[in-house]
Amino acid sequence: MENPAGIETAFYRVAIDTPLRRCFDYLPPASGPLPTMGMRVEVPFGRRRLVGIIESLESQSDVDPSKLKRISGIIDPEPTFDAPLLELLRWATDYYHHPIGEVLATALPKLAREGATLTAITEYWTVDEQGVAAHQGGEPRRAPKQRVLLEQLVAAGPEGLASSTLHEWQAGWREAARALLARGWIRCEQRAASPAASAPAARPPATPELTAAQSTVLTTVLTAGDRGYRGWLLHGVTGSGKTEVYLRLAERQLELGRRVLVLVPEIGLTPQLVGRFAQRFPQAVLAILHSGLTDSERLAAWRLAHSGRAQLVIGTRSAVFAPVPELGLIIVDEEHDASFKQQEGGFRYSARDLALVRARMLDIPVMLGSATPSFESLHNVSAGRLTRLALPERAAAAARPTLRLLDLRGERVHAGLSTTAASSIQRHLAADGQVLVYINRRGYAPTLACTACGWIAPCLSCDARLTVYRQAARLRCHHCGADRELPRQCPVCGYAVKTVGQGTERVEENLAELFPSVGIARLDRDVVRHSDELEAVMRRVSSGAARILVGTQMVAKGHDFPALTLVVVLNADQGLFSTDFRAAERLAQTIIQVAGRAGRAERAGEVLIQTEYPEHPLLSGLLTGGYDAFANAALEERRSAGWPPFARLAALRASATRPEMAIEFLDAARRLAERIAGRGAMVRLLGPAPAAMARRADRHHAQLLLESVDRPALHRLLERWLPEIETLQEARRVRWALDVDPLELF
Ligand code: ADP
Ligand code: ZN
Ligand code: ZN
Repeated sequence: MENPAGIETAFYRVAIDTPLRRCFDYLPPASGPLPTMGMRVEVPFGRRRLVGIIESLESQSDVDPSKLKRISGIIDPEPTFDAPLLELLRWATDYYHHPIGEVLATALPKLAREGATLTAITEYWTVDEQGVAAHQGGEPRRAPKQRVLLEQLVAAGPEGLASSTLHEWQAGWREAARALLARGWIRCEQRAASPAASAPAARPPATPELTAAQSTVLTTVLTAGDRGYRGWLLHGVTGSGKTEVYLRLAERQLELGRRVLVLVPEIGLTPQLVGRFAQRFPQAVLAILHSGLTDSERLAAWRLAHSGRAQLVIGTRSAVFAPVPELGLIIVDEEHDASFKQQEGGFRYSARDLALVRARMLDIPVMLGSATPSFESLHNVSAGRLTRLALPERAAAAARPTLRLLDLRGERVHAGLSTTAASSIQRHLAADGQVLVYINRRGYAPTLACTACGWIAPCLSCDARLTVYRQAARLRCHHCGADRELPRQCPVCGYAVKTVGQGTERVEENLAELFPSVGIARLDRDVVRHSDELEAVMRRVSSGAARILVGTQMVAKGHDFPALTLVVVLNADQGLFSTDFRAAERLAQTIIQVAGRAGRAERAGEVLIQTEYPEHPLLSGLLTGGYDAFANAALEERRSAGWPPFARLAALRASATRPEMAIEFLDAARRLAERIAGRGAMVRLLGPAPAAMARRADRHHAQLLLESVDRPALHRLLERWLPEIETLQEARRVRWALDVDPLELF
């Protein structure tokens, strides 16, 4: 769609970050160049001026042209989104039934949404002739800081110096610069930042010789072609060398002058992983996009990707929308990870699924990798949509760990740890091994209870108990962030209180008592607020300073501790009796992932799983048949129960200050859906029902579930339904969101 000829009759359809399900028409700017598709523009909107994106160029508008306003400015001379990326975003708008303006806004870093330009602009300082003369005359005599600055600028010559450089060189330089500027000796100008100096050419790193399985995988992928859509599922046990496969495939793309996008889970984006890419491609520019960046760091990384200077773009969920010109390959590592699904806010997309869509649109290969593939991906393999590649053995000379269930009945258990597990830990420590203790709960204990009256410390805003933090002497809510002093007595009857159950903090304390001379590290979301703390813990474990690591889910991912020989899973039972149909899948994935940490090097690993239900078919099946057999059996169950991936789900979620408001809204929405779908509809409606934890942060949550084996039928209904939901009277009193392909049902 090019600019139509007659300029005045052309309309620009602009997407604006509003909850409205539409774009807005504008006339071309009064003067200057005309914008093209995908460009960011400034437009008058009500009484404000907003940043919008040219979604399309139209020759006709539904609005009387005399009522239309003009685009008031163009932000960049080039498009923010190229045509393929815009197409992906439109696809996501349709599929997730979300307003286009908000979808496009999600794809931008905050500062770009607010109008920051694509090209990084930097302030440069140069000296002019008068300044040079003054400097030669020994000026300024009584202002040493100004004299130093002037000298530096004279030495820098006509190129000048960037503010950031001066900042590093000299404290208080800006005041001096202002004074020199006022005297007319120096100048300040805005210039596009020069590309970052590329890293010095390093020695090409040693690349390991591929194992037979790796070679087969690589040959298969490369023979299928460097271009053209192919969806691969790389199913490789932990330590099988999946990353090595990614590196080789990336290498091939870089040789072809194309770029690679790597998506990793929230806590998988470790300096270790980035380091492996950086080491392998010392010449390449990397752009790293994750949620821990400041707004300006994020903008900088995004610009690096947009400009095409970054050959490798590595990022978490939202990086699936990163602008990457000449993208040749997308890799999704740990594709089963729940963090690829946005589960909050309005626009709840799956980055894993969108990666497949993006690859198909660009007609390029995409590789999903995991040791425990999601059932969706396994199902896609059966349906012929993905091709499975297997790495069944570990790459380095490492045996697979042996898994054993430890029956807790008839065991003495202290702070969650059985006597048998404790003596195993002792044995492995004595043999110079390291030990990982996994527990899926942070804090000291999940409950504080009265020893006399039965009082249990509740969160006042949620249907939840408060978690005890003993070191900090606080009670905290993991759902709303409430944070209170730890009481010494029961607030009701005044008797003593006690903690019930255990979290990582208590397990760590217990282990410290059992093994007083052994270094212990703990890893959970409370410890790791910043990635550098994560690194510090990792260093303590890698160096051997810590020989026992206690942690939550976080320890299950991507870290390689060669001396780790024993893994103890403290509480596998939580996931056994959940009402969520995905609980079994998640439990199996966690166990296999955590177990994968054991015995990474030549020493064989041992994994102990404590349970009170050793006969439970899920656990015994997983142990005897492994993940594949487990997944096959569980998928059969899903098929007969009509759950995903054999059916499609969408959840309409609502929350309100009073429980009945949320239910009334969902009831009204249900009636609408029944009317639209008509009799004999292919879509089943389930609910509305309150969420399992209905009250969170003083809001009452409920949901209505839509289920169908016929995806197009479901989406046709959603498309007609949502605009009508918006007009419901009841919608005004609730916050609501649609979740297409929801991961968690609560
Ligand atoms: P995964 O990503 O599948 O968990 P990694 O790529 O991290 O596995 O590999 C596990 C370990 O095996 C790493 O230490 C890696 O350096 C090593 N490795 C990978 N491929 C090979 C190979 N072909 N030969 C020797 N060691 C390898
Ligand atoms: Zn009491
Ligand atoms: Zn709470």
